[in-house]
Amino acid sequence: MFAFTDLRDLLAVYLTDEEVEKITKAYITADKAHEGQKRYTGEPYITHPIEVARILGQLKMDAECICAAILHDVIEDTRLDKKTIAANFGEKVAELVDGVSKLTQISCETRELQQAENFRKMMMAMAQDIRVIIIKLADRLHNMRTLGALPYPKKRRIAQETLEIYAPIAHRLGMNNMRIEFEDLGFAALYPIRYRVLKESVRKARGNRHALIHKIEQKLVKQLEDLGMTDCKVWGREKHLYSLYQKMQAKRLSFTEVMDVYAFRIIVKRKEDCYTALGCVHSLYRPITKRFKDYIAVPKPNGYQSLHTSLIGPHGVPIEAQIRTFEMEQVAEHGIASHWLYKSGEQNDAISKHFNTNQWLKGLIDIQKHTGNPLEFIENVKIDLYPNEVYVFTPKGSIFSLPQGATSVDFAYLIHTDIGNTCVACKINRRLAPLSTRLKNGQMVEIINAEGAYPNPAWLSFVVTGKAKSNIRHWLKNQQRTESVQLGRRLINGILAETGLNISAFEQEELDAILQKLSATSLDNVLEEVGLGKRMAALVAQVFLDEQHDSTPIHDKAKECLVIQGTEGLVVTYASCCYPIPGDLIMGYLKPGQGIVIHTENCSKIKKYKSKPNHCINVKWEREIKGEFQVPIIVDVINDRGVLAQLANAISETNANILNVNVDQRDTRVNTVRFVVSVRDRPHLARIMRRLRAVGEVTRIKRGK
Ligand code: MN
Repeated sequence: MFAFTDLRDLLAVYLTDEEVEKITKAYITADKAHEGQKRYTGEPYITHPIEVARILGQLKMDAECICAAILHDVIEDTRLDKKTIAANFGEKVAELVDGVSKLTQISCETRELQQAENFRKMMMAMAQDIRVIIIKLADRLHNMRTLGALPYPKKRRIAQETLEIYAPIAHRLGMNNMRIEFEDLGFAALYPIRYRVLKESVRKARGNRHALIHKIEQKLVKQLEDLGMTDCKVWGREKHLYSLYQKMQAKRLSFTEVMDVYAFRIIVKRKEDCYTALGCVHSLYRPITKRFKDYIAVPKPNGYQSLHTSLIGPHGVPIEAQIRTFEMEQVAEHGIASHWLYKSGEQNDAISKHFNTNQWLKGLIDIQKHTGNPLEFIENVKIDLYPNEVYVFTPKGSIFSLPQGATSVDFAYLIHTDIGNTCVACKINRRLAPLSTRLKNGQMVEIINAEGAYPNPAWLSFVVTGKAKSNIRHWLKNQQRTESVQLGRRLINGILAETGLNISAFEQEELDAILQKLSATSLDNVLEEVGLGKRMAALVAQVFLDEQHDSTPIHDKAKECLVIQGTEGLVVTYASCCYPIPGDLIMGYLKPGQGIVIHTENCSKIKKYKSKPNHCINVKWEREIKGEFQVPIIVDVINDRGVLAQLANAISETNANILNVNVDQRDTRVNTVRFVVSVRDRPHLARIMRRLRAVGEVTRIKRGK
């Protein structure tokens, strides 16, 4: 209770009594839920959420956020669930707690740190409300502060994760103070010896530098005061240990070299004063012109604003100066959290209630509007903060990013074109799911492939990525071309056969002449157009015959007959008005651009087409036809329990597959059931119908249309 009283005092400064009351209630709930649990330090578990809340209280985060911080581990570690939290503390608090728990879960599942970049993005995308991230950062900060008691391997892993994931997120959100603490704590835990040596060296160097820093400070203050800027602050600042370490590593510099620079910060009252102060500093020491940066005019993507300049100081020592206002200083230290720091007070409510990632983004865009260079800026922020991407895992733990709304087929094509082309099913979080399922953040997706499988044109209706679309279209187009060329060749050869000829009997010279007459560029193009119904087979065949100086025109069109093998692919389709199956008398209709559509001869549609004889083509079934053909069967059946199962059984006993079932109640007694089944031919269909008729409840049965 002692720790909490402390926190309550801190919160009472900026929250209402009512809000503090609610937070107290959250504390009581969490305390009870975590009862008996201990941290590895030996303290009661509840001390952890209280400290996390304190970190957020120091940033003056809103009441919902503090409440959620106190409850942040209860879903994960105790028996309390989201519903109970929502009932007691409101939907928003429950969502925040739930969001934090989800992030905890994914960070437990993913140990592959090489993908830190994607992991960071996934965390950002998963958090609809930016406060989830801020709570998670505070959670990690307290864990880092109390890392001491852990065994080294675990410590090492957590420290590495902090440096690779949490510090960059804090940086992205402009929360610099937190980032610096993450980095120094992480550095200390990961490389304890290097840390100690460096720390000691800095302590020693500080003594030597002190006099010079003081002297420069004095000079700067005096110069500024002379210009009338009396309430500004100037101080010599030290880089934090991890950044010194990184600088030494990256630029291969010695300790003396990195410590060589003297850095100062100048804080002034108003924005205009920044530029005045800059002029003043430049008049005092000679600036290195190329090193000047105006982040006030063009803020950094995380909202950071400041003037940076480099100068040559007394005795030629290099000086770096950062000049900004008090307000910019707050943003530089706390980034996104400074919104709460600043707006605490009357505006607080409106802002915190609707504060989500988008609004933070909007705030940044506002800053940007006044300053220009929007494109790069928006791109930068969008990647991390705008949740329009979905991040999913492969079974091996690699992370892939896809646009919002992407499906397993998009995912398959993202991995590899062949994986996409041959995918037949998928598992999402280890459970079978339809290929069209829209993927969600954090899911594990496994694609199941089958040799010889190929893309389904229906996929085009749900895929969203350009890669999937173009690959499916490309495959279909190629496939259609191959099949059309084959069909065209068969159609022409069918006609030529009457005169004992065949396309392959023509010499190249003759073919060239034929192509010229047809104004075509290649034989395959002509054949494709014939197969697709764009050119009349009879007319093309006539040109071939003319070339052989065989003047006999083709009269007897009735003999022109294509044998359907059932393996033609996309260029031969079966009409869904009459569902022809082998054994039926059939007619073909050449649908320009699509190929041949097969109808039964007595289909009412084909009768209409007969007025366009050029489009009708005689076809017949191959004697030994392979494949399965769809046909509907309509059954009237007495409404009895289990009768549908009996019918389905009867059908599957004849080795036919049911593709679709529809039940229509005709009256209270009789149902009409429409099955679409796949059959080999008419005898197969007849067997199924006989078998169905044997079911006692069946009153009427017929082949459907
Ligand atoms: Mn925690």
